[in-house]
Amino acid sequence: MPAPSTTPPATDPNTPTIRLEGVHKTYNLGEVQVQALRGVSLEIYPGEFVAVMGASGSGKSTLMNILGCLDRPTRGKYFLDGTDVSSFTKRQLAKIRNTKIGFVFQQFNLLSRTSALENVELPTIYAGISLTERGARARQALERVGLADRAEHFPSQLSGGQQQRVAIARALVNSPSLLLADEPTGNLDSRTSIEIMDIFQRLNEDHGLTVIIVTHEPDIARYVKRALEFRDGRMLRDTPIQDRLFAREVLPTLPSLDDEVEEPVSGSASAADHSPAG
Ligand code: ADP
Ligand code: MG
Repeated sequence: MPAPSTTPPATDPNTPTIRLEGVHKTYNLGEVQVQALRGVSLEIYPGEFVAVMGASGSGKSTLMNILGCLDRPTRGKYFLDGTDVSSFTKRQLAKIRNTKIGFVFQQFNLLSRTSALENVELPTIYAGISLTERGARARQALERVGLADRAEHFPSQLSGGQQQRVAIARALVNSPSLLLADEPTGNLDSRTSIEIMDIFQRLNEDHGLTVIIVTHEPDIARYVKRALEFRDGRMLRDTPIQDRLFAREVLPTLPSLDDEVEEPVSGSASAADHSPAG
């Protein structure tokens, strides 16, 4: 018998993880209606790695909020792992979100007075995981993003890239089958962005996790397998990525930043003016 796997139970590869049929989203602002999505149909299968691209205001975040069960379509259907969730109540959506979906945001959204480990543990509380298992799961998730040695640090004691890795660990802690990330590298420098793409690629390749990220940077989209381009609430293009890049190959070719060394506090022009002569 093969050893039991720690990856999530294999889903039927023939059932799309995501199927949208004619999805519309209209925001009602009193007099004005904003049509954020205007008839989006699409399928994403288990093990895919997709980038959602498009200009600001094209509907990317609206789409991600629907895919992540944070919001519902105004019209059209959303099947998640074969289940029609478009008419689910908020309570039903919250439950499915907790068990199937991990979400990563541009702003990390960590609790500042809470350690990395406790931040990662939070979703296990909502999922009703036993107290003894919470810590173990959270440590395991931190290990998967290479931050086991930072468990007791507070967000303010971590670099931006490390904070985003904590947020990814938090998204992984309930073993979701779908990872959604809305501009996960939007607040990071280019090397750190590729380190984050490295984590997503490893999760996708090694653990078969389905990953969908929003990015407006073509350089970042070269690390995924498939790109969807949005404009004015519609999907314009759906293309496989040619000449895909692998972060683990690119990273060694980049100049390394000494990210353990804190930058001097900005505004201290005197540091340059009075730099020691020798
Ligand atoms: P993107 O993420 O591509 O920048 P969004 O999905 O955030 O685009 O926005 C799409 C459109 O919907 C924009 O015109 C935006 O102003 C509008 N919009 C987004 N969220 C809301 C909201 N909560 N209420 C009203 N309008 C919204
Ligand atoms: Mg957005």
